[in-house]
Amino acid sequence: MSYKHRHSDGSSFSFPVGKVVCVGRNYAAHARELNNAIPKFPLLFMKPATAIVDMGQPFFLPERGGSCHHELELALLIGEPLSAAQPATSLAAVAGVGLALDLTLRELQDSLKEKGQPWERAKAFDGACPLSAFIPYAADMDFSTFSLTLQRNNQLQQHGRCSDMLFSVQELLSEISHSFTLMPGDVVLTGTPAGVGPLLHDDELHASLNIGDDEVLQVETSVL
Ligand code: ZN
Repeated sequence: MSYKHRHSDGSSFSFPVGKVVCVGRNYAAHARELNNAIPKFPLLFMKPATAIVDMGQPFFLPERGGSCHHELELALLIGEPLSAAQPATSLAAVAGVGLALDLTLRELQDSLKEKGQPWERAKAFDGACPLSAFIPYAADMDFSTFSLTLQRNNQLQQHGRCSDMLFSVQELLSEISHSFTLMPGDVVLTGTPAGVGPLLHDDELHASLNIGDDEVLQVETSVL
């Protein structure tokens, strides 16, 4: 596997490439658009390291499984082991912040959900997690001022403010770390805002991360 976690200046992080822990339904408007209830506890699932590809490179959609939806999400790169952490101290484990696409075979996910089966076939396949470069996390960053935007073929598709998350970044890290120890090189995806939809071959995507009014990260990519 050629993927390595990259710093936004182009250098590589020394961390290995680990698991990706994801949260479902963390924005109320997105839960509603898929007719899902608002969760009382974070809904967690994982993608293996083999799902990760570089979001800065054009990527493939799966050959089978029906329509593949984009879910743009804030991604957290873990830099320190984190286990059974309290929310207030959990951010110390974050090394970087970036963007991810939680690619989802939506029709397959719907049929798995109907049968009460796990979602991995719809969300954990090879290539299911394009990841951007990461900017270093600084203790004075306030996630409630973060926002993310996805344009598809120059049309605004997704825009979300992290202040609209049902569970904050601190709460998610704490909750996750009580079930799964997070290790350096693991990544946490924090859920997607509304506006998910199918990707098609030749789509041009522009994703950006803002802190307040400042665009701190942008990714241009396309679907092969
Ligand atoms: Zn997602």
